[in-house]
Amino acid sequence: MHQPSVAIIGGGAAGLSAAIAAARLGASVTVLEAAPRVGKKILVTGNGRCNLTNTAVAPAAYNQLAFVEPVLAEYDADAIRDFFGELGLLTYADDEGRVYPVSNAANSVLDVLRLECAHLGVTERCGFEVMGVSAADGGFQVASRDDETVSADAVVVTTGGGEDSLLSALGHGSIEPVPVLGPLTTELPPIRGLSGVRVRCAASLLDDAGEPVATERGELLFRDYGVSGIMIFDLSRALERGRTLSIDFFPDIAPVAFAALMAERAAELSWRRAETFFDGMLQSRIAIAVLRAAGIDAKTPVAELPCDSLASLLKDFRLAVTGRGDASQAQVTRGGAPVGEFDPHTLASRVAPGVFVAGEVLDVDGRCGGFNLHWAWASGIVAGQSAVHFATRGDLA
Ligand SMILES: Cc1cc2nc3c(=O)[nH]c(=O)nc-3n(C[C@H](O)[C@H](O)[C@H](O)COP(=O)(O)OP(=O)(O)OC[C@H]3O[C@@H](n4cnc5c(N)ncnc54)[C@H](O)[C@@H]3O)c2cc1C
Repeated sequence: MHQPSVAIIGGGAAGLSAAIAAARLGASVTVLEAAPRVGKKILVTGNGRCNLTNTAVAPAAYNQLAFVEPVLAEYDADAIRDFFGELGLLTYADDEGRVYPVSNAANSVLDVLRLECAHLGVTERCGFEVMGVSAADGGFQVASRDDETVSADAVVVTTGGGEDSLLSALGHGSIEPVPVLGPLTTELPPIRGLSGVRVRCAASLLDDAGEPVATERGELLFRDYGVSGIMIFDLSRALERGRTLSIDFFPDIAPVAFAALMAERAAELSWRRAETFFDGMLQSRIAIAVLRAAGIDAKTPVAELPCDSLASLLKDFRLAVTGRGDASQAQVTRGGAPVGEFDPHTLASRVAPGVFVAGEVLDVDGRCGGFNLHWAWASGIVAGQSAVHFATRGDLA
């Protein structure tokens, strides 16, 4: 009996999970990886700890809700933890639902994936940069930059974010890649002197009408170019819809109660001056920035402070966002292969039968916190299985 063969292009998170899923169904699997080693990016995820999924995984955490729904319905966070559990990986979830290996070492994740691949007889070919995929003998021939070729009945493309010329050459469209989950650049005068300050707060991106399009809570880090931190990474996903950042330094107190608190504080501390008024409630560098934004001299007696407008400023400190920060710091790429060109249940190409996709090569991105790797594993498993079904039956009926 003919053993189905599957070529996986790209040995990242999606490629390795696809390889395991395909090999478990009895296929002869070859992983073709351009780099000298597979899974290099897995090692840098989660600050070297690999935040591999999140207990709150749901379509709403992604830009393509409807498209990711069938895959996530089949592989939720428990299913992915089970998948890794079967590979011998022990995991735990922190109190924000982020799942890590118990070893707190990303290499544990890569190790178990590679061990399983070896156990299942998956062939790893590193330094094999795929330059083209062509139809041959009822299947495919995959060619490398060095003119080596690999034949397979089905192909899974898992080349990650950025331009993908392989899919374009197969007739697919491409959405211009944009780095998301990264820092933002902002106007600089209001944040002068704040670089390096970390503050727990809430922040929103506002549209041109001043309405919030996205709000996050967490730790914000001021930088000399703008703002960073996980909450900013998450907000960066909504940058097309809002270009003004509004920071609420006291998100646990409602505006009216906060205004009352400020008035009371001014009455109690009327002997202080503006420069010390915030001592005890705000980091001094932020206090300086707030007074500067309000145009208040540091020596102003507290009795003369406009408490209402200072309260408003602390609940709604605005910064114009000028753009995305250094792309090399962004965690994922939005754009790539348009999801409409693939079947959301099988991840099969609607343009090139026998070609499947998974991971970041698709125009799918999710929040920080394990959602992107979750998509890579879950879609990889589905694409790997679908590729074997295709190779076995020649279709997916
Ligand atoms: C610093 C950083 C930290 C991150 N931390 C997290 C985290 O903690 N949790 C989380 O969920 N997500 C995290 N992410 C995002 C996550 O890493 C990605 O979503 C995920 O790696 C995507 O997997 P992928 O397999 O689709 O692509 P990749 O991991 O990018 O793998 C693609 C592979 O394809 C290979 N390749 C490309 N072109 C070719 C070709 N022509 N021929 C052969 N091989 C090719 C590449 O060399 C690469 O090995 C982080 C990202 C970064 C950059």
